[in-house]
Amino acid sequence: MLLAIFSGFAVVSAQAQDYDVVILNGRVMDPETKYDDIAIVGIKDGRIAVITKEKIKGKETIDATGLVVAPGFIDGHQHCIEPYAYRLMLRDGRTTIMDLELGAYGPKLDEWYKRREGKAPVNFGVAVSHEFARAAVLDGFTDWKYINTPDALRSRVKQGWSKTRPTLEQGNKILAAIDEGLQQGGLGIGSTLGYMREGVSTREVFELQRLGGLYGRFIDMHFRYTPGDDVGEVNGIQEMLANTAALGTPAIAAHFNNPGYNLVHELLVRMREKGYNVWGEIYPYNAGSTALNAVFLEPEVWVKALGNKYEETLQDVATGEFYTQQTREEMIRKEPTRPVIVYKCPEEWVVDWIKLPGVAIGSDGMPLLPDDNLTWDTLYEDFPNTHPRFAGSFAKVLRIARENNIPLMQAVAMTSYNYAKPLGNMGLKAMQVRGRMQKGMVADITIFDPQTVTDNSTYAKGTLPSTGILHVIVNGTIVMKNQEPLKGVSPGQPIRFEPVKSRFKPLNKEEWVKTFYASPIDFGGGIPGSQPDLH
Ligand SMILES: [Zn+2]
Repeated sequence: MLLAIFSGFAVVSAQAQDYDVVILNGRVMDPETKYDDIAIVGIKDGRIAVITKEKIKGKETIDATGLVVAPGFIDGHQHCIEPYAYRLMLRDGRTTIMDLELGAYGPKLDEWYKRREGKAPVNFGVAVSHEFARAAVLDGFTDWKYINTPDALRSRVKQGWSKTRPTLEQGNKILAAIDEGLQQGGLGIGSTLGYMREGVSTREVFELQRLGGLYGRFIDMHFRYTPGDDVGEVNGIQEMLANTAALGTPAIAAHFNNPGYNLVHELLVRMREKGYNVWGEIYPYNAGSTALNAVFLEPEVWVKALGNKYEETLQDVATGEFYTQQTREEMIRKEPTRPVIVYKCPEEWVVDWIKLPGVAIGSDGMPLLPDDNLTWDTLYEDFPNTHPRFAGSFAKVLRIARENNIPLMQAVAMTSYNYAKPLGNMGLKAMQVRGRMQKGMVADITIFDPQTVTDNSTYAKGTLPSTGILHVIVNGTIVMKNQEPLKGVSPGQPIRFEPVKSRFKPLNKEEWVKTFYASPIDFGGGIPGSQPDLH
């Protein structure tokens, strides 16, 4: 009898500790099953162990009464994956941040991951960079400090990466550098083609997509004519999708929040209906941000071809002043890669973008520079200015949805599931178990107040944190409580593939002739004025 009482007590005691974290009475929303109900969530060993109406207990409890319990937000386009950025990411509800566009230098991909392992509150991932492979081969760039985007501020000072058509030998070296990154588990190939529109031939783009396809991985592309007009933008994605159609490889349309977006979206939807794994992402702002010397900002393109005026469209991030053609040229001589904001769309288009089904959010957040003294503890107000998408993209999606009666489930899908689903379909295990509020999924969870959630960052002050996102859980560990990110709590996991052996075979003319009866004279696919080599 005594034993029975004792064991009964033990059972109760075990139940009390059944869960690591319990989230009480929140509105649980799952974009995959469309489950949308008040429920209790129990988390154990990093996973969602139960979603129930029954009372359960855990070591830690979060009261989510009146709040939405959503899958953690997944940002597929964040160029700043550094310790000083993490607090702002959590304030905006982001539990996974990945740079799938510019990416990291292939041969150093493993090092990029190692630098972050065990030190990040959020999950992190990266694609293999096309641009950096070109900078290494065509400009001899070797000064890797970051391995990813912030290095571009120095590698972009030279122009070979942007304007040179490689020889076949150089082309093979570029592909081999990218291949190293794919072997090391890079998520796909990221191409900033729009910055290299003269130097990169259609042949080179095709071979990139073919290489990624050998591993079943995506190309993520800043299209050739972005930012452009509606025709240029659509022609840009058509280049990528035509290759996708020929090769069957996955593809991501980076930031298609530009003129022509409705046809870009329709192309993606129709390709998906035909079974292709292609998707697009947007950031919810009418302006972009880039370096001052970007090729598309040159007067022949930006002013003559696209009809823009510098005085109305090109703003200095740090000073807020607008450039003229003359002040732009002066500044390029002093600081060629200085960050600028580029106005390119009417503000009301943003609402339209948030309505697009199947579209994901990629913030395109930029590194803050200079970053010498920036840390986790730096005050938000003390950060160097940047485009507001860095700090506010995800909360802004939720605010725009609320203000325009767009269903909350649509917004929740955009912020999480719409990136997880296609990446999971690509065989990426880490994304087959994220972006969903279901039993058995990884407990990356963002809890927000649907009535008040809002972005606060602006073009004048781009580093102000979002508000109304209260609690964030990553891999089952609470990393933000009551809007207070917890310092030194680092459950973030690498999002990557397992290392694999090389599948790359260097290109050679004999194979081409044998297969297609025509031989490109070089990797550029033909230099104007040259004679094709038929031997
Ligand atoms: Zn871009």
